[in-house]
Amino acid sequence: MVYEVNMYSSVVEQAWQRCGGKCECKDQSHAHTYIRCNRKLVYENKDKSRIDGWKVIYLTGAAADTAENIRIYCQSCFKQD
Ligand SMILES: [Zn+2]
Ligand SMILES: [Zn+2]
Repeated sequence: MVYEVNMYSSVVEQAWQRCGGKCECKDQSHAHTYIRCNRKLVYENKDKSRIDGWKVIYLTGAAADTAENIRIYCQSCFKQD
């Protein structure tokens, strides 16, 4: 279960820098299994339903809106959760 994040863009910006423009998902139940997804994403396509679109999600149990508590997910990984 993931929650979509609506937060300050500066925090999302930090997370985007960290992920290097690639999906950060490491969910073992996905097709990429034990390795990071790393799908290439396009910054302008945030929240768009495209192959290079992406979403920001909270980590389970995250209590604060910080870059450490969020992950950049591609649309494909976002939909699998
Ligand atoms: Zn992904
Ligand atoms: Zn995934």
